[in-house]
Amino acid sequence: MRPWKLAETNYAYVKEHAFEVAVLPLGATEPHNLHLPYGTDTMEGDTIGEALCAAAHERGAKVVLLPTMPYGTETNQMAFPLAPSTLAAVIRDLVESLAQHGIRKVVLLNSHGGNDLKPVLRELYGRTSAHLFLCNWYRVLADVYGEIFERPDDHAGEMETSLILAYFPHLVAQDEHGKLLADDGAIADTRFEAVNRGWVSITRPWHLLTTNSGAGNPHAASADKGRQLVARLVERLAGFLVELSATKLDERFPF
Ligand SMILES: [Zn+2]
Repeated sequence: MRPWKLAETNYAYVKEHAFEVAVLPLGATEPHNLHLPYGTDTMEGDTIGEALCAAAHERGAKVVLLPTMPYGTETNQMAFPLAPSTLAAVIRDLVESLAQHGIRKVVLLNSHGGNDLKPVLRELYGRTSAHLFLCNWYRVLADVYGEIFERPDDHAGEMETSLILAYFPHLVAQDEHGKLLADDGAIADTRFEAVNRGWVSITRPWHLLTTNSGAGNPHAASADKGRQLVARLVERLAGFLVELSATKLDERFPF
């Protein structure tokens, strides 16, 4: 039993060991090109949450990893959608329950690009005694992304495929030579330059944007790249959990 993982630990342990920090990973259930499982984002939340909490626990952090939320906002994909307001309500209830149990430092570990969670932090600020932190882990390594991966991507591309190859290789569809059974993840342009260049944004209807739901070329992925990604995330984020756990909540927190 990993004592820092709520789904595995028990009440006897929890009664004796108070937690300071809760980590709530947020995933999604949706297609990922032709070759990755529907649960990709949820598995990423589990894997990265476990790596971070294990490392932080080892360094003395009183941290607990909550079960990953398997549904996210994917109203533009028409698959298992949670409206942004529904997801916000679920997070609010969970945060309230944590605060009632004395856990007042909560980290939202977001695994799904369709989840726009900053408004949740703004809405709950001042209405709960808990302090919320948001980490979109797929943005944490933006400055060193090119040291690991060949091409920038978005959904079901090189980064996500590498992660699933590293931790759930049996769930990646490949032919007998190890070639991914995926298309190239090319995306369509809209008819407006301002939208294509990012000056104006829309919520992208995924069935018009992509061929098979992939947005990003997955073919340069490898298990080694997936492991490097997680190691670098641990380097950058486990120390934050340790600091957060040790920090006293006072009037000027977090400054
Ligand atoms: Zn994904």
